[in-house]
Amino acid sequence: MQYNHCMETTIFEKIINREIPSHIVYEDEDTIAILDINPKTKGHTLVIPKALSRTVLEMNPETLGQYFAVVQKVAQAIKDSLKADGLNILLNTESAGGQEVFHTHTHIIPRFTHDEVGLNTGPHQAYQDDELIQYTELIKSYLS
Ligand code: AMP
Repeated sequence: MQYNHCMETTIFEKIINREIPSHIVYEDEDTIAILDINPKTKGHTLVIPKALSRTVLEMNPETLGQYFAVVQKVAQAIKDSLKADGLNILLNTESAGGQEVFHTHTHIIPRFTHDEVGLNTGPHQAYQDDELIQYTELIKSYLS
């Protein structure tokens, strides 16, 4: 199997191949879920498809449904087992989106009322004039 954009071997491929250790919370033929070594909150888990893809945008659409069914199952287990009040479910995509490991993975971060994890803070931008219409038309034109 090859990456679409690059041939580098990532740390997640080494984890999948048991070349380096990890704490596995779930595994099946196509997917592995491990504890993040540097968690935002305890129980922060990464759900990783075994098939190589750089980002979710390069994943085979036919396997996405099964993959997200696993994300949902692991997310529910994290929420229930840790009695979390909520979750963040994130796919950081490319460096500008915060991605550091270029093998698709979904973060599941358990959240607790008043945990003060700074994921939802920071400034927002405001649309000016008819920008709402312009952005709508621009994105729509790529979907038709
Ligand atoms: P991202 O920034 O979305 O690419 O996330 C990569 C995540 O992988 C970070 O949250 C890291 O803490 C985590 N990570 C890196 N190396 C390991 C490892 N060996 N075991 C578990 N998690 C790791």
